Amino acid sequence: MDGNGFKKDDRGRSGGSRDGRERGGGMGEERGGGRGFGRRKVCRYCADKSLKVDYKNAAELKYFITERGKIVPRRISGNCARHQREVATAIKRSRNVALLPYTVMQHP
Ligand SMILES: [Zn+2]
Repeated sequence: MDGNGFKKDDRGRSGGSRDGRERGGGMGEERGGGRGFGRRKVCRYCADKSLKVDYKNAAELKYFITERGKIVPRRISGNCARHQREVATAIKRSRNVALLPYTVMQHP
């Protein structure tokens, strides 16, 4: 008794209509957002070598604070880590000398 058991017949595998190219219908890297404001490729200070983080330059630092006087996070400001840090320091220093506000009172 040994012809028993099932033998594997490949049942009609002739109609191969699927070719395996299902790849690459990708989700790209773009997601979310759209309201691209304040989104820069590289940080301002890296892009412009002549520009330096200077606490006396309140006009420049204003780009990195919100209208309420808070420091804009790096994701939004687009700064690199190094410059973000310098900017943050500069802002703090700048507040000290009253060039920038600590907070801005918002009057409703
Ligand atoms: Zn930078």
